[in-house]
Amino acid sequence: MYDYLIVGAGLFGAVFAHEAKKKGKKCLVVDKRPHIGGNIYTENVEGIAVHRYGAHIFHTSNKEVWDYVQQFAEFNRYTNSPVANFHGEIYSMPFNMYTFNKMWGVVTPEEAKSKIDEQVKASKINNPENLEEQAISLVGKDIYEKLVKGYTEKQWGRKATELPAFIIKRLPVRFTYDNNYFNDTYQGIPIGGYTGMVGKMLEGIDVQLGVDFFKNREELQVQAQKTVFTGMIDEYFDYSLGELEYRGLKFETELLDEKNYQGNAVVNYTDYETPYTRIIEHKHFEFGTQPKTVITREYPQKWVRGEEPYYPMNDDKNNSLYERYRELANRETDVIFGGRLGQYKYYDMDDVIEAALNCAKEHL
Ligand SMILES: Cc1cc2nc3c(=O)[nH]c(=O)nc-3n(C[C@H](O)[C@H](O)[C@H](O)COP(=O)(O)OP(=O)(O)OC[C@H]3O[C@@H](n4cnc5c(N)ncnc54)[C@H](O)[C@@H]3O)c2cc1C
Repeated sequence: MYDYLIVGAGLFGAVFAHEAKKKGKKCLVVDKRPHIGGNIYTENVEGIAVHRYGAHIFHTSNKEVWDYVQQFAEFNRYTNSPVANFHGEIYSMPFNMYTFNKMWGVVTPEEAKSKIDEQVKASKINNPENLEEQAISLVGKDIYEKLVKGYTEKQWGRKATELPAFIIKRLPVRFTYDNNYFNDTYQGIPIGGYTGMVGKMLEGIDVQLGVDFFKNREELQVQAQKTVFTGMIDEYFDYSLGELEYRGLKFETELLDEKNYQGNAVVNYTDYETPYTRIIEHKHFEFGTQPKTVITREYPQKWVRGEEPYYPMNDDKNNSLYERYRELANRETDVIFGGRLGQYKYYDMDDVIEAALNCAKEHL
């Protein structure tokens, strides 16, 4: 008999299970995948930690969360500095003085600002009606055309003129020579990958892998007082109110017999013609010196039920459907819904840890 059945061995499930064990509760964690870690799972290939479900960089300004993860892993000093490749032209990201210097030859912040202002004014857009207009009204035509348009159209599978303006609220522009992508206080990658970190969280807890909750629902739920469910909330209710939508992704991973393929962990392909949005070279997350390298091409995809749901489509239509599922969820007194699928929310890792810790405080 268990106090908690935890469906999902991802970050939410692992943090909740760890906290429950600390409080003397007995937990059974099940996951339908053959491994722990959920989407932050990393797998060792030729000594390289490969991020199987997309590049994961830990970053947070929440000191409590940063201190919390230190007990499970040692973090390196990795700083995310993606590079943009537009038809072979290389630009620094996020948009900063290196980007502006390459784009226009400007050297001072003053010159860069006036170049952007000039292009924004020339666009004469006052009330942006779509994503293209919104982006041009924020950063001007040159940056939009080379660094935003193609990438965004691939990401969403639609023309920028057909996408709503609200998708881009801000386009961070930095008038310093600083390639650090994130503004957070803390940043890094757990040395050796994320799987070891989640493994430590789950130490001493019963874990069963390759177990689908929906195929074993009754026999699993009778073993525990309560369930923590981190799978898809609409699937839990058998899609009775309709299907929530996601954006899918396809990953193509290759082991290459060379030391250094692209010189950076993340290269974004910002032209429309290159079919993938980015290439990840995993060893650079840990400053690897292995003789081989592993790269992954990332292709955004239309999502269909049965495939891995990556990004929730948090538009009005889907958010209001989720609210109706949440009402159903509130009536399930013995089930707690958590994580990115259980709460249909784009959560970064630090958000999901914070949410799991709050959930543990509330329920344990
Ligand atoms: C491509 C991509 C890149 C990202 N990059 C970053 C980043 O750089 N930095 C960052 O902070 N965050 C990043 N994130 C977000 C990060 O992945 C999430 O915050 C985190 O993984 C969420 O954890 P979770 O436990 O909620 O969900 P998950 O990791 O999805 O775990 C849920 C688990 O439940 C299991 N499950 C579902 N249904 C069932 C069932 N019926 N039976 C049994 N098991 C089930 C699943 O197999 C899964 O293992 C990224 C996300 C994506 C998609």
